[in-house]
Amino acid sequence: MKADTKILSIIVPCYNEEKSVPLFYAETVKQETFFRERDVAFEFIFVDDGSKDGTVDAVRALREQDERVHLVSFSRNFGKEAAIIAGLEKATGDFTVLMDADLQDPPAILPEMYRYIEEGYDSVATRRVDRKGEPPIRSFFARRFYGLMRKISKTEIVDGARDYRLMTRQVTDAILAMKEYNRFSKGIFGWVGYQTKWIEYENVQRVAGETKWSFWKLFLYSLDGIMAFSTAPLSIASVFGFLFCLIAFVFMIFIFVRALLYGDPVAGWPSMTCIISLIGGVQLLCLGIMGQYMSKLYMEVKDRPKYLVKEEF
Ligand code: UDP
Ligand code: MG
Repeated sequence: MKADTKILSIIVPCYNEEKSVPLFYAETVKQETFFRERDVAFEFIFVDDGSKDGTVDAVRALREQDERVHLVSFSRNFGKEAAIIAGLEKATGDFTVLMDADLQDPPAILPEMYRYIEEGYDSVATRRVDRKGEPPIRSFFARRFYGLMRKISKTEIVDGARDYRLMTRQVTDAILAMKEYNRFSKGIFGWVGYQTKWIEYENVQRVAGETKWSFWKLFLYSLDGIMAFSTAPLSIASVFGFLFCLIAFVFMIFIFVRALLYGDPVAGWPSMTCIISLIGGVQLLCLGIMGQYMSKLYMEVKDRPKYLVKEEF
């Protein structure tokens, strides 16, 4: 290796990806010729997020033929966000790129991405222009989610944005400087800023294995998480609050219409009931929202490690 060779760290979060890992590697090394001409060498960092299949063995097999393959293996499944941060922490590269193991982040566009870095961009991000092959219900909720985020958040979160992103060391360090426990990468990327070039591509189906984010699994998993850490009572408050508001509203219309049609025999009480339940509902709703934030704070204050490493090379 020449002294001025730069390193591109390819970070790959893997959860039960034994079939995808070798395919991913084979596909990605194909792009090396382009990078070699520019004195950029690859470094692979596979982060095994507590896989239950042979993912670790698959990475070990790659390591035997390629010294530049590295592994961080977690003690259990900590989630993709934890895998991303672990990979970024281990990366030594002048550039880092985050890629899914399932080849849904096509390695073929790596050269194009790198060209923008050469042009002077600090990071090159990707977004899917469609959600082909995705369950419609998932697309629907994803769209609603992004729509809502745009309204309530100052940080730019792009619809269809992938975690597939090529970054300079400066941007990588900025992301590493964000120490929060509740990590939401799409928000973090937007928050750190820097000159970002967006590249679009069409959705690709995963090569092997299956998605870890089925709608129901996601939903149940989120419930599991809440209950395991027992902040559930806080969220229940907001659910009840919302419900009471709804009931009060329906009740209000009912009382109003009834009073119009049949008169109001006991003066005063219907409006009283409506107001009491409405205000009660609103109070619970607000308390619930506060509770949500407090539960996040609770987790931050605990300052638990974001992941635990079982094996590393
Ligand atoms: N992943 C992970 N930990 C998890 C779930 C997923 O590291 O708990 C990885 C997974 O192996 C893949 C990437 O995150 O490389 C994206 O996951 P997936 O393809 O299942 O998501 P989708 O593309 O369907 O949104
Ligand atoms: Mg995928």
